[in-house]
Amino acid sequence: METKILTIGASDPTASVGEKLACAGSIIRQGGLVAFPTETVYGLGGDAFNPESSRKIYAAKGRPGDNPLIIHIADMAHLERIVRAVPAKARMLADAFWPGPLTMIFEKAAAVPYQTTGGLDTVAVRMPNHPLANLLIREAGGYVAAPSANLSGKPSPTLAKYVIQDMAGRIDMIIDADGAQIGLESTIVDVTCEVPMILRPGYITQQMLSGVVGETDMDVTIYDSSSPQAPRAPGMKYRHYAPKGELVVVDGDPQEVVRYINEQTAMHEAQGERTGIIGTSRMLAQYRASSVKNAGDREDFRTVAGQLYTFLREFDDEDIAYIYAESFAETFEDKGFGQAVMNRLLKAAGHRVVHV
Ligand code: AMP
Ligand code: MG
Repeated sequence: METKILTIGASDPTASVGEKLACAGSIIRQGGLVAFPTETVYGLGGDAFNPESSRKIYAAKGRPGDNPLIIHIADMAHLERIVRAVPAKARMLADAFWPGPLTMIFEKAAAVPYQTTGGLDTVAVRMPNHPLANLLIREAGGYVAAPSANLSGKPSPTLAKYVIQDMAGRIDMIIDADGAQIGLESTIVDVTCEVPMILRPGYITQQMLSGVVGETDMDVTIYDSSSPQAPRAPGMKYRHYAPKGELVVVDGDPQEVVRYINEQTAMHEAQGERTGIIGTSRMLAQYRASSVKNAGDREDFRTVAGQLYTFLREFDDEDIAYIYAESFAETFEDKGFGQAVMNRLLKAAGHRVVHV
């Protein structure tokens, strides 16, 4: 299949952008697939009401069929058609955080095909905060099922070039435009229960959610990897975001972390293996490896979140066999945005952590 690449610049005239998105929208309405930027990561969109489109999404990604898709909408009025009810707390969360990086789980309406929900009676819905995404959703008929636009098992794409790498030849169109500033997938909250429950941490933190609806819960598997329970978001059970090299997270006193990492990289490099490091700016000058990535300021998780998946992809391109990352464990405990970063980092590392 030939994949059209549609480039949209920030200063393109509104009329030409409108025309391009109308074309992209009609591809989705006719059952095709279009990858597009959102404020979190790039999405791979198809018509949420068309079971064949959902089947194509799973095939293009190589995604297991039990891992449900998120339906993206652009208007609050459209929510009613895909859910059985909108609980009062869901409405409060929508008022506070939509459009934005929050996905909510509702009881699904009969009209939503099981192919889109991975066989579940619930449905995940998000309203993204990205002007092109929202225009595209409207042009596509209002309901776009879209997982992240990567091959299953690869890091979610935060740049169009990685969407092209994974999806060229597999889908109809890729929109190449600015976006994905947040760099991590949306926070997922189940609003079918009395106390809303976080199933995947993200930019919208537990504190922000509780500030709006009071008490909230968190799926135990997010902070306890040894829990025997299955994660309530089916996708969370897969080892996502895996780089080709072996990634280890190193936790402890900063100077000890530097010493341990440099010792490991020196050993591997001596054996002819290329090594990589993800470190915070204050420590950066001390690290020795083939590739050292700057995760930014330890106090500001937006920088590392925005670049984490890019780093993992770059390590693949650079043939890095061993990767070491500083830990952000203390913020994992306080359940802020750092928790989301740490959640993804630990998944990428297959939960390999060394305490020094
Ligand atoms: P992605 O769009 O690639 O970020 O993946 C979507 C995530 O949402 C996966 O982790 C899914 O398991 C989760 N998800 C989608 N629908 C549901 C649902 N109805 N119940 C629980 N989790 C869901
Ligand atoms: Mg994904």
